[in-house]
Amino acid sequence: MTNALTVSDLTLTFPDGADRITALHHVNLHVRGGEIAAITGPSGSGKSTLLATVSTLLRPDSGRVELETDSGTVNLAELSRRDAATLRRNSIGIVFQQSNLVPALTTIEQLEAMVHLGQSWFVSPSKRREVRARARDLLHAVGLTGHENKRPAQLSGGQRQRVNIARALMNDPSLLVIDEPTSALDQERGAAIIDLITGIVREHGAATLLVTHDLSHLDQMDSVYRMVDGVLTQQKAVIAA
Ligand code: ADP
Ligand code: MG
Repeated sequence: MTNALTVSDLTLTFPDGADRITALHHVNLHVRGGEIAAITGPSGSGKSTLLATVSTLLRPDSGRVELETDSGTVNLAELSRRDAATLRRNSIGIVFQQSNLVPALTTIEQLEAMVHLGQSWFVSPSKRREVRARARDLLHAVGLTGHENKRPAQLSGGQRQRVNIARALMNDPSLLVIDEPTSALDQERGAAIIDLITGIVREHGAATLLVTHDLSHLDQMDSVYRMVDGVLTQQKAVIAA
């Protein structure tokens, strides 16, 4: 388990009329596999932009995003679009703030689609069985056994967020980015989601970035950063084991 993410001197600007907005200003960050770096900070400070850049959905103006896995180290900031799409499918788990489940699919199909969408039209029966078994295991891990055949409209907000998290783990990601997973949930359900995420990250060994506005979870995090106006400052460091 050699996963790690190292972000170095990352800068990203958006066009703003004749000017540009600096959304990320020389950002540095490091997180190892099995650990969670929490990111807090006011709305509009660049937190979601950082997650989108780290997960290759946005390309930075400058800087490096190095993902170390068992198969080597790649700089995600300089991948082609095509290579980035492949890497996202195989190695990155993304959980967005709003649950973007497909309304027509059942819970188990949401997870299976993550694997089957990237494949050629023929998937062997044994592969199908393997994918289904993994989806069932992950749904069990997030406490959704018995809800496999429900569609998103039949689930609560907390349950939908659990489906999102299970779906992001289908490809056993080396890197997991999670944006405000508890923002739509009450305190108790929010705490349960954080416990779920910390358990899963420790077990699966993904290097994890978690944006959260809820300061009550920070003692469970391995490191804590604060983003203000695109500038990221570390507030709590990993205690060396
Ligand atoms: P946060 O997640 O911390 O609330 P964001 O990363 O969403 O902040 O936004 C950071 C800044 O970048 C804000 O000023 C926002 O308006 C701006 N921004 C975000 N996305 C875009 C975009 N696609 N185009 C232009 N500006 C953007
Ligand atoms: Mg945001």
